[in-house]
Amino acid sequence: MQIDILTIFPHFFDQFLRHGMVRVARQTGRLDVRITDLRAYAEDRHRTVDDRPYGGGPGMLLKPEPVFRALDALGLAAGATAPEGTLPLLMCPRGQQLGQQDLEQFSGARRWIILCGRYEGYDERIVEAYPWRRVSLGDYVLSGGEVPAMAIIEGAIRLLPGVLGDGESALRDSFNEWTGPEGLDHAHWTRPPQYRGRGVPEVLLSGDHGAIEKWRRENSKQQRSNRLQATRGTNHESVNSGEPGESPARITDGAAFKEVPGENDVEQDQ
Ligand code: SAH
Repeated sequence: MQIDILTIFPHFFDQFLRHGMVRVARQTGRLDVRITDLRAYAEDRHRTVDDRPYGGGPGMLLKPEPVFRALDALGLAAGATAPEGTLPLLMCPRGQQLGQQDLEQFSGARRWIILCGRYEGYDERIVEAYPWRRVSLGDYVLSGGEVPAMAIIEGAIRLLPGVLGDGESALRDSFNEWTGPEGLDHAHWTRPPQYRGRGVPEVLLSGDHGAIEKWRRENSKQQRSNRLQATRGTNHESVNSGEPGESPARITDGAAFKEVPGENDVEQDQ
């Protein structure tokens, strides 16, 4: 699979491409990612890619020229259908929110061309001129299309044949074969059997595979009903309470965050 990414922040993807399954897919020749720096296709010597919106209002827009020129270079013609096997993807909050089945379908394409917006978005001619599938990560606004691009790449790459090892089949994940398309994974535990006063459900230590499978099925159903409840808003209080007690992951994340270098880096271009 080949993925072309058009962005004004080409280095955004440096670490992403060097880790996890994306790295595995690239190293084994299953994935070829090419980054196009939109500034390279700007027409002036300041490499301008943005301009003010007609009609006034806040913010800037991605100009049409660098995008059209970059897409010319990639062989995606304005006003035409996409070449066979090519999937042009526009990152856009007005787009469709994808599910697992969409990613499965997308992972069958030979080539993706992903355009990452920035600023207030795109000059609408960019949106109109190409046969985009418009993709949204969710009903909230980010500052750019790079994170949504990484999300869908990571989701699709693990579905490519041979990327996940035998022991890591996607089939038992949420939204897959074991759970069904709407289903959620069951909860998991590993060693030690006791940690800080917390144990592991007895049945998982029993060695009784029938009983374990039954327990996992029930737990998977429970996860689904918990999520439905949370979605209806009944759990919002505990989610937003700011009390760390319920979520060990949050404590770990907080500690890790302190070690991240460049935390105070400010985006210079906007
Ligand atoms: N003015 C736009 C937001 C622009 S945010 C609006 O209100 O709809 C700048 C860019 O970030 C977008 O062009 C898009 O590429 C990306 N982006 C922001 N939120 C996104 C989301 N939820 N899903 C996909 N892309 C998003």
